[in-house]
Amino acid sequence: MTQRKNSPFQTLIHRVDLCVVGGGLAGLCAAVAAARHGADVLLMQDRPMLGGNASSEVRMWVCGARGDNKRETGILEEIMLENLYRNPDRNYSVWDSVLYELAFTQERLTLLLNCSCMDCKTENGRIVSVTGWQTTTQTFHTVEAAIFADCSGDSVLAPLSGALFRYGREGTEEFGEEIAPKTADRKTMGMSCLLQAREETRPSRFIPPKWAYHYTKEDLPHRIPDMKSPYENFWYIELGGESDAIADAETVRGELLKTAYGVWDYVKNAPENRRKNRFWRLDWVGMLPGKRESRRCVGDHVMTQQDVQSGGHFDDLVAYGGWSIDDHDPAGFRSPGTPTVYHPAPSPYGIPYRCLYSKNIENLMFAGRNISVTHSALSSTRVMATCAVCGQAVGTAAALAVKEGLSPRGVYETRIRELQRLLADDDCWLPYSAREIPALTKEAALICSAPDAENLRSGVDRPTEAGENAVTVKKGEPIAYRFSQPQPVTRIRIVFDSDLNRATLPRRKVCREKNVPHNRPLHSPDFYVPKTVVRAFRLEGITPDGAVCVLAEETNNYQRLRRFAVNGVFTVIRLIPLETWGAPRCRLFAFEVQ
Ligand SMILES: Cc1cc2nc3c(=O)[nH]c(=O)nc-3n(C[C@H](O)[C@H](O)[C@H](O)COP(=O)(O)OP(=O)(O)OC[C@H]3O[C@@H](n4cnc5c(N)ncnc54)[C@H](O)[C@@H]3O)c2cc1C
Repeated sequence: MTQRKNSPFQTLIHRVDLCVVGGGLAGLCAAVAAARHGADVLLMQDRPMLGGNASSEVRMWVCGARGDNKRETGILEEIMLENLYRNPDRNYSVWDSVLYELAFTQERLTLLLNCSCMDCKTENGRIVSVTGWQTTTQTFHTVEAAIFADCSGDSVLAPLSGALFRYGREGTEEFGEEIAPKTADRKTMGMSCLLQAREETRPSRFIPPKWAYHYTKEDLPHRIPDMKSPYENFWYIELGGESDAIADAETVRGELLKTAYGVWDYVKNAPENRRKNRFWRLDWVGMLPGKRESRRCVGDHVMTQQDVQSGGHFDDLVAYGGWSIDDHDPAGFRSPGTPTVYHPAPSPYGIPYRCLYSKNIENLMFAGRNISVTHSALSSTRVMATCAVCGQAVGTAAALAVKEGLSPRGVYETRIRELQRLLADDDCWLPYSAREIPALTKEAALICSAPDAENLRSGVDRPTEAGENAVTVKKGEPIAYRFSQPQPVTRIRIVFDSDLNRATLPRRKVCREKNVPHNRPLHSPDFYVPKTVVRAFRLEGITPDGAVCVLAEETNNYQRLRRFAVNGVFTVIRLIPLETWGAPRCRLFAFEVQ
């Protein structure tokens, strides 16, 4: 503990391997991934809860790569399945608790909430420490670390450390991006204060605050709220793209609140809506604006429109996106045109590791909407599932760097294959490649009645254009690896089918692919674990003397990726899937021993 100069408040000193600033989905996944890979991590987050724009404070639902079977897996899918299991009603308080629990129960991870990073010490092009002010304790926290990850959205560490960053839209000539404006400007996508509503059986009235704007149908071109649509989430209440996304944020927030209450006044009180929407009530209005764009850090590679549209076939691919290039008009709600233009983007496209660490600050990494991309590429990479998988890549790389005594760039130069191997093992999909299969699995005899049993060791853990890559067996039917001679076995890895398309979830009145619904129509269905997930299973090993050992037995599994440490010598390892969450048969993508 020390005292800051000219301050009566104490400063606590923390020494860790990785300090993550910002606890949105990117920062959370980075911190958890690094801790799981053996690094001591501190996550500094300026709000009382985690999740950033996905948290109950902002309430934006999580989007990612579009299309069948493109859903992001790894830590994000673990979070989503936990949420489906624990949050049938899908309310935001339970969702907050799922994110909080992931961080605060994680070994090696120190969580500092309500702590805003506001200072940074650098030496010879490296960050030595960062300092945050914790409002609840009136304490400064100084964190010394080998590596820092800026997942703050606004890239707070860039101005503090002197890291290169970009702001605004590039001119078309700089990278040859055809959708970019002719000349560069300082415009961005705007920010939003969202609102949520619920349908009831009794009619209700709404008296708008005196300071709210008043709108008629003519004032809302392309933005007429539709309370019947499960996709109505008021994202187009967007302002600030022509102001400074950081310096002017509070002024813009004031305007957003006038706009949001004005839009709800239109929903309830406009003559054409009064009857139609009489059963809808305002449930919540966000007081914290969610931001889409501000500073973007500059890495060894700056990803562009062309990189996105050509599929991102990078040798150092460590994450992927798949949202369209959803380029909002900076004038936002005040633009008479459509609020956004959806330029096409393939799903998936690869994101290279070189976009995730700083070009000039040796030990700075980043994940989230502030990665090294142009404005055009950001228009696609900014969605939160993409941010989350980039976060997992950053955390995994940081832990690897610490273990090997390397810089983030050093990981690129000497350990990129190892990083990709670790990510793939952790169920992160790296398109265009297959996971390495352990020699013991490859060489064993696979005993399984399914005609496509070899899919269990194909190294691809989801359906792709090449095929289903899955195996379906009856409940209770064993799948086994038999070794030609007794073998020491240390680990078993299984990937169950978590229904990436969420086709087995309810579809009536709700968008079943989202983590939390936005509005609540009357009699919304409850959610549950996807029916395809194997709920009960047993793992057995047969020893050289013929004894059967139960290595694991589960009756309430709801996760997709399951790994088990084993310690023994066996002639056979077998998996017996016993029950699902509703599907008539058991489906899985991988079963491996090593
Ligand atoms: C209205 C709106 C609609 C959107 N629509 C969608 C959508 O439908 N689906 C989707 O997936 N994405 C959507 N996006 C985009 C997406 O929400 C963002 O791009 C994404 O949240 C960025 O993730 P992040 O982790 O980088 O930042 P954030 O989610 O903003 O998280 C960063 C966290 O860092 C914290 N932080 C900031 N500064 C500091 C500091 N100095 N010290 C400590 N902590 C700090 C912040 O409080 C925040 O919690 C939308 C965005 C907005 C605003």
